[in-house]
Amino acid sequence: MTKQQTLSILKPNAVRKSLIGMINLRLEQARLNIVAMKMLHLTREQAAGFYAEHEGKPFFENLLKFMTSGPVVVQVLEGEDAITRYREVMGATDPSKALAGTIRYDFADSVTENAAHGSDSPESAAREIAYFFTPNEIFPK
Ligand code: UDP
Repeated sequence: MTKQQTLSILKPNAVRKSLIGMINLRLEQARLNIVAMKMLHLTREQAAGFYAEHEGKPFFENLLKFMTSGPVVVQVLEGEDAITRYREVMGATDPSKALAGTIRYDFADSVTENAAHGSDSPESAAREIAYFFTPNEIFPK
């Protein structure tokens, strides 16, 4: 077991539906401690830079439109095996394939509007955390 940090985004549909508290309760109960957080309304440039690996894919434009449709909450989560654990708590990208009891199973509206983002590897986590936070905005336990 290794202590890790991962980047979480509560996407615009989760914020619109007042699910910040509900989702964060689940995260804290899963021992994913919130060690940094901010609310932002992403610009198109910020969203495109964040999702640069998906540029050119058929869903890219729709994803940008959604991610800029309202404010999001970006957070750094910290805990043992936080990257994998958060992916498990979040569930599969496509909510129809997500396990019952996961965040996406319970709160996603579609594959695109799937309520939450979580880094998929240590390399992505490092890049994504630095994309939104400076070191002095993060408060490790
Ligand atoms: N996405 C989409 N259509 C797809 C695949 C992905 O709209 O067919 C969106 C969805 O919001 C997803 C994001 O693009 O969360 C990034 O996709 P990725 O495959 O990296 O999934 P994730 O790591 O978020 O589970």
